[in-house]
Amino acid sequence: MNRKKITALVLAAAMVMPMGAAAVHADGSAVEAIKAAGEVVMTTNAEFEPFEYKDGEETVGIDCEIAEKIAEKLGVKLKIDDIDFDSLIPSLLAGKADFIAAGMTATDERRKNVDFSDNYFNASQTIIVKTDSDIAAREDLNGKVVGVQQGTTGDIYVTNEDGSGDITVKEVKRYHKGMDAVSDLMTGRLDAVVIDDFPARKLVEKNPDKIKTLDEALTEETYAIAVPQGSDLVDVINEVIKELNESGEMDEIVSKYITGEEEADSTAE
Ligand code: GLN
Repeated sequence: MNRKKITALVLAAAMVMPMGAAAVHADGSAVEAIKAAGEVVMTTNAEFEPFEYKDGEETVGIDCEIAEKIAEKLGVKLKIDDIDFDSLIPSLLAGKADFIAAGMTATDERRKNVDFSDNYFNASQTIIVKTDSDIAAREDLNGKVVGVQQGTTGDIYVTNEDGSGDITVKEVKRYHKGMDAVSDLMTGRLDAVVIDDFPARKLVEKNPDKIKTLDEALTEETYAIAVPQGSDLVDVINEVIKELNESGEMDEIVSKYITGEEEADSTAE
């Protein structure tokens, strides 16, 4: 068989066996394609408690519960794929998922490639240091070695590639898992870790005698769900977010995972 024939066969096979997300319907509707497939595919990075994390084999968390409501609204099954955070947008663009729910901050840079739903959560980038650290405020990060989760807004801010940020660290170390960054902080390989506020609290809760979060945040941001540009799925997602907010269910979901007074004002309404 010549190479042309093999290519044609591979292409044909790819067309009859769509992997991952439901292909867009003939009329251009992602929603119709998802309904026809009977399944909606969400991608996430399950290293981000309380938004998504592993409980045994299962991926659970606030985003997973919101995603269940989206699947319910569509009348289909939910499939959750767990991949690295910095692969989420490339994988969505490659058609391997219908939406990303990953505590993802809606940024203008990301909007160049994806559409975002309405905001559903207010978050901030938090600084974690050792309990005996001399770092007490955000400016103290200047000249320090800082760990971040690769490809996240924390990474982008601390790396400060475009020079728009006000902090200049000595070195940025990038990790796939926030937990690995925290381990390096505790063994002295890092001076600080920058990560989203609620995951930071969960990480500190596991080692309260060794590490702490600073009260002052690095930046403020909001989470939204990402879909391919032009996808009509965003309307269904926005409807679900609105209903969850209006019914009080969003607060109920959040308070299952986040206890205490800090939870009260975080749902973005
Ligand atoms: N909110 C951050 C971002 O969007 C981190 C998200 C994550 O690590 N899951 O970049």
